[in-house]
Amino acid sequence: NGRALFAAVPIGYPVVDQTIVYDNTQTIDLANAPLNGGFLVKVLVLSVDPYMRGRMREPDIPSYMPPFALGKPLASGGIGVVLRSELAGVEVGSHIRGIVPHQEYFIAPNLEGLELIERDARLPWSVYVGAAGMPGETAYMAWKEYSKAKKGEIVFVTTGAGPVGSLVIQIAKQDGLKVIASAGSDDKVAFMEGIGADVAFNYKTTDVRAVLKKEGPIDIYWDNVGGDTLDAAMEHANMFARFIECGQISGYNDNPQPMKNPLLIVAKCLTFNGFLVGFLRPKHKEAFRAEVVPKIADGSFHYTEDIVRGIDKVGHALLGVLKGTNTGKAVVVVADE
Ligand code: NDP
Repeated sequence: NGRALFAAVPIGYPVVDQTIVYDNTQTIDLANAPLNGGFLVKVLVLSVDPYMRGRMREPDIPSYMPPFALGKPLASGGIGVVLRSELAGVEVGSHIRGIVPHQEYFIAPNLEGLELIERDARLPWSVYVGAAGMPGETAYMAWKEYSKAKKGEIVFVTTGAGPVGSLVIQIAKQDGLKVIASAGSDDKVAFMEGIGADVAFNYKTTDVRAVLKKEGPIDIYWDNVGGDTLDAAMEHANMFARFIECGQISGYNDNPQPMKNPLLIVAKCLTFNGFLVGFLRPKHKEAFRAEVVPKIADGSFHYTEDIVRGIDKVGHALLGVLKGTNTGKAVVVVADE
């Protein structure tokens, strides 16, 4: 039973084999392990997400998600198939989705934190932790809730080649906006152009302020990065612009930079909407399933995945997400059906 364990609190970026350690010393007797009324799951896919860095902290530091426990498996969004079950309503062969431990097999006592899920036959399971899963929900639900988008407005989207940003770009185009999008490589720029961004640029080689001055001012800022880019967006925002504060990855491995000119919030009557997708899910879950997933399945909405195989690759995949070397939704495929 291979597992990815949280072995040490990192300073700065996590270190593969120090922060996250692969372990295969635990065995589960798949045929006979007692279920005690629960069910045995074989993990198929695991999501690797930026927020996982925030859970790699000392236990006494509070935050919106509990810290990972040292010496225990990491956990994140995942999909698994039920191998044995003693729980009514959970059939052998059915699939579950939720926050699952990073181990090849686990026994769940009940469905708490998990839900049964069915797949559109046109989509692989990996997409259900990406465009058709939590990151896709994040893009759709916060856009619906906070953008107040009007046709012809201008939006600036950061990390536009990732699973959240790329869906924001496509929904904004569908709503008739002009989209400015940034990411950290020329390949990612080409991808963003391919999915409809009107202006796409590499923030490592192009000055964000020069782009926003020429193509703005912006009415909506989709913030995935924080830091100096957020300051630039405020400087080039229109009156009454909406800031959708989704993430601030530039501060996840370092101390976040303070905002340079908060007075602009007053002067431009800016609205800042911080959110966590879990709070938006009850309201928008059904609409997401009905409106977005079919468009992903029929190819109207595009996505990219960066898939690695094997639970021993979790550390590499997470580092890739935090450093930006991932080229699409980072997924670890643990097993086939
Ligand atoms: P991605 O797959 O896009 O991976 C993160 C990307 O961030 C990297 O690929 C990299 O792309 C970029 N990045 C890394 N470091 C920096 C930096 N210092 N400055 C600018 N960009 C950087 O991730 P997701 O699409 O899954 O997530 C995007 C954002 O959404 C994250 O901030 C995440 O925390 C947030 N989020 C928030 C949720 C919520 O409920 N509020 C839910 C889900 C995600 P590049 O090559 O462009 O640098």
